Amino acid sequence: MEPKKIVILGITGSIGDSTLKIIRSHPNLFTVAGFSYHSNFEKAASIAKEFHVTNAACTDTYHENIQYWKDNKIRFFDSMEDLLYIEYDILITGIVGSIGIRPTLKAIRDNKTILLANKETLVMAGDLVIKELNKSKSKIIPIDSEHSSIFRIISKKEHPAEKIILTASGGALREYSVEQIKGAQIKDVLNHPTWSMGHKITVDSAGMINKALEVIEAHHLFQIPYDKIEAVIHPQSYIHAMVGWLDGSFDFHVSKPSMLYPIAYGLFYPESAPALTPPVLPANFPAFEFHSIHIDKYPGFFLGIEAGKMGSLYSTVFNAANEIAALEFLKNQIDFYQIPIVIEKVLSLITNTGNADKIDDYENMDHWARETASQVVQSTIR
Ligand code: NDP
Ligand code: MG
Repeated sequence: MEPKKIVILGITGSIGDSTLKIIRSHPNLFTVAGFSYHSNFEKAASIAKEFHVTNAACTDTYHENIQYWKDNKIRFFDSMEDLLYIEYDILITGIVGSIGIRPTLKAIRDNKTILLANKETLVMAGDLVIKELNKSKSKIIPIDSEHSSIFRIISKKEHPAEKIILTASGGALREYSVEQIKGAQIKDVLNHPTWSMGHKITVDSAGMINKALEVIEAHHLFQIPYDKIEAVIHPQSYIHAMVGWLDGSFDFHVSKPSMLYPIAYGLFYPESAPALTPPVLPANFPAFEFHSIHIDKYPGFFLGIEAGKMGSLYSTVFNAANEIAALEFLKNQIDFYQIPIVIEKVLSLITNTGNADKIDDYENMDHWARETASQVVQSTIR
């Protein structure tokens, strides 16, 4: 059988690394047909060489290395959507931020299988994505670990889930008091206890905003109302999600915290993925703990859930304001605890609460929220 042709958006990031680890071990089954990168040309060039890639897209507007790709007979594209005209079987969305919306919609309209890591796309415009998905033969297989676990559990059951519970590690500041969080530095926030990921999602995790994004992601992916989705802190990150049934019992999905599991599950779906790492047997599991999420410590989580419940454009704004606030924090322009303050202010300034049904409606709102968040940072915070 021909190897499956994979396109990876955001090849130079953490999702890209994990995906390539699996492809490297199965060269007869998968080939990298194309990829996108943003700023890390050196890494992109070395990946192209190792995996004999013939199509590369750079999303940064500054293309100083275009000649390199030409010299190496690699077709160069200056957008992710243009790249997606090549022949391929599976798209992996490993880019960060709502910039993923247009390529995701294109892949849906082209009836492709999409392994979705880029949750911001669903938070920005989940209603539109699902509407387009329902009109096409495309399939989205989530590779966010919690959602991959839910997908595994519910796809084997005939009855609808009564409840979905996402677990959260608690992030880098889980042992900090509310007062200590006020003094948290960039290095503290990026020091994630159980997962090694890109900077933006690590910041999101520390404030539990990542979990709010994931609740909204789950609402759209599994078409489950918000009052049936919960989140709980589970510091060991072994149980990724739980699905509750009418009789009051739960199914858990358990593995050690590694993105290799959800990504391989998606790549091999509907077949079983082979052994990935030496298995950890239950006798060697750590003791599992669960704690509730408190609003004084994680206000961003509750803001996100409220925005999700308010409807499409509110979650578009929540996501965009968060992207700006997280970036400003990483540039040392605001303190960590100010991230939810910026988001709350932007949400309070929404006046356009009309319906959205086209990509432009969502993008206009996304742009408005980004500009407003930048102004809030400049005028209120500093
Ligand atoms: P990284 O920061 O490690 O990688 C991000 C990737 O996106 C890089 O390839 C980067 O390119 C590229 N990129 C950055 N800015 C832009 C832009 N403006 N336009 C297009 N591409 C851009 O992130 P992660 O891999 O950690 O996360 C990627 C997505 O997956 C996020 O949505 C995250 O929430 C989700 N996710 C990640 C998990 C993980 O374990 N890492 C787990 C679950 C979900 P370059 O480096 O060349 O600048
Ligand atoms: Mg996750």
